[in-house]
Amino acid sequence: MSDETEQRPAGIMYECISCGQLLTADQLAMTPEIKCPFCGYRVLRKARPPIVKRVKAR
Ligand SMILES: [Zn+2]
Repeated sequence: MSDETEQRPAGIMYECISCGQLLTADQLAMTPEIKCPFCGYRVLRKARPPIVKRVKAR
């Protein structure tokens, strides 16, 4: 029995600075080099996952 059902390192995401597409670390791991699979641009920056923990309410 293994608990390995879809392990997603849902932490770091990358954003292509060219097309703005968000990529997971998984998607990047599938390509031999760091580049955007959508537009081919090679400059990505780390983006935080779209999880909002703090809402500016006041
Ligand atoms: Zn791109």
